[in-house]
Amino acid sequence: VIIGGLRKASLIDYPGKISAVVFTRGCPLRCHYCHNPDLVLPERFAKQIPDREVLEFLRSRVGKLDAVVITGGEPTIHRDLPDFLAAIKGMGYLVKLDTSGVNPEMVRKLLGSGVVDYIAMDVKAPFARYDGVVGTHVNTDLVRRTIEVIMKSGIDYEFRTTVAKGQLAEDEVAAIAKSIKGARRYFLQGFRNEVTLDPEFAVRGTYSDTEFENMRGKAAEHVIKCEVR
Ligand code: SF4
Repeated sequence: VIIGGLRKASLIDYPGKISAVVFTRGCPLRCHYCHNPDLVLPERFAKQIPDREVLEFLRSRVGKLDAVVITGGEPTIHRDLPDFLAAIKGMGYLVKLDTSGVNPEMVRKLLGSGVVDYIAMDVKAPFARYDGVVGTHVNTDLVRRTIEVIMKSGIDYEFRTTVAKGQLAEDEVAAIAKSIKGARRYFLQGFRNEVTLDPEFAVRGTYSDTEFENMRGKAAEHVIKCEVR
């Protein structure tokens, strides 16, 4: 895997655990609101951190950290991800994987081989509107397949959507919830407008708490639990 960042300790990235966060570099999507452009745009790429350095660090933290979160970028584009995660599991860590769901075969392989304990997948938009939100063309059949693989896997999971005002309308959030019907956990996340891949996008605001609560209520009709984060 090509690693572009490492957060050595986090209390918020793995539910209820102290984790290290490994940021892989490279992503096929170009979400306008992306707050990690240095992990996405080749001309802005963060300097690579060798895998072996990251593995050494993790080895030195055994007993002090509970978990490792692999995020990006898009981790599943790296063909050696299964080996990398197996090395981390071998140290006794819980592993959480973040993905945009564009690579169902890799997700199937990882979930089937026991190297992931928790998976979080972004469902970015209603399927008919995907390309506009992710800033490029995506075959949404791949996204649908990943949703199915995750929901059938028996592994702990969450789906989540970044909701930016002016990009997703309230009823579209309900449409996304319908596409993950019966999901155990669905999170709606406000849009953070500090750094964005598309600089113009930073001017867009976020919905108010009341608007989020309305959206949550409608989305909750389709899933087991829906929360605003
Ligand atoms: S927000 Fe979009 S562009 Fe940024 S890393 Fe995630 S999937 Fe890639």
